[in-house]
Amino acid sequence: MSMSDLPTETDTFVTELDAAVEAHMNWTRRILRCAVLRSTPGEDVLDPMAHTLCRFGAWFAENRAQFVALDAPAAHRVEVVHQTMHDAIRSLCAQVMGGASGHLVDLDCFERSQTELIGLLASFKTLILSSAVRSDPLTGLPLRYGIENDYTLYQKEARRNRSLLYVVLIDVDHFKPINDTYGHHVGDLVLRHLANTLKQSLRIDEPLYRYGGEEFLWLLKCKSTEEAIQSARRVLATVGTTPVPVADDEILRLTVTMGLALAGEMEDLASVVKRADQALYQGKNSGRDRYVIASPDLAF
Ligand code: GH3
Ligand code: MG
Ligand code: MG
Repeated sequence: MSMSDLPTETDTFVTELDAAVEAHMNWTRRILRCAVLRSTPGEDVLDPMAHTLCRFGAWFAENRAQFVALDAPAAHRVEVVHQTMHDAIRSLCAQVMGGASGHLVDLDCFERSQTELIGLLASFKTLILSSAVRSDPLTGLPLRYGIENDYTLYQKEARRNRSLLYVVLIDVDHFKPINDTYGHHVGDLVLRHLANTLKQSLRIDEPLYRYGGEEFLWLLKCKSTEEAIQSARRVLATVGTTPVPVADDEILRLTVTMGLALAGEMEDLASVVKRADQALYQGKNSGRDRYVIASPDLAF
């Protein structure tokens, strides 16, 4: 997969990461110049808050949440190491400019932290690129690959917290006629719009996947069946009241049908999905624009 196939945000993110690595490699050159020429490395280096002033520091602070979501301990480590590196550089440059030679501890510290920082950023780059490959370029939603893992985690969490986990299949109603009437391009646009609408009506810790063409899978965490029903109703209402603009003066109203299946404590994903799919099928046959809850699997 080439960079140009990646979603724009990923592309931008990786470009910024590359720029950060480049900039921090350049510090070595700046220190060398400072030492050899006894010249000032610049105010931005000498400032005690240098780690917040450099371009990477500012960019990292802005995008901190994304780093934390990918790998929280590594994100924290980036902050520590980045500041350590800046502190060491400041100390070295101040000594050299004052006519003394720099301290070996500072130089060692600088080299160590620079190496670690660059390594950390390289790992983040790999993480970002591999998660981009797992997501659908059309809707930006994750694809099926991650579901199994997330499902197992959430199932354990539900067991621990005595809460419930529902697997919900969401299928767009009468989607084929949209393609047939307006063309595939508009169909794509409608799917992207719907993915956004769905994503916005779910909680952030409830993942939504693009499961198939116009099918989505939602892992719904809740305390009770009543709460699951409320969530399902809310999604139906949001989709129903969020029409999709398809042309300058034309909007499309969409509906979806949902099949909900309560995950048994030890039930595997395939089995829950199968029941959710049967419930979805019932929903389609009984008029669409609704949710149906699958009967529990007695085996679990
Ligand atoms: P139902 O209410 O029974 O679900 O009817 P439907 O028309 O939505 O169902 P059907 O499964 O017959 O059609 C789904 C269509 O979705 C067929 C397929 O061409 C279209 N589709 C699947 N993926 C995409 C996509 O990525 N883009 C576009 N534009 N169309 C897609
Ligand atoms: Mg379908
Ligand atoms: Mg459909």
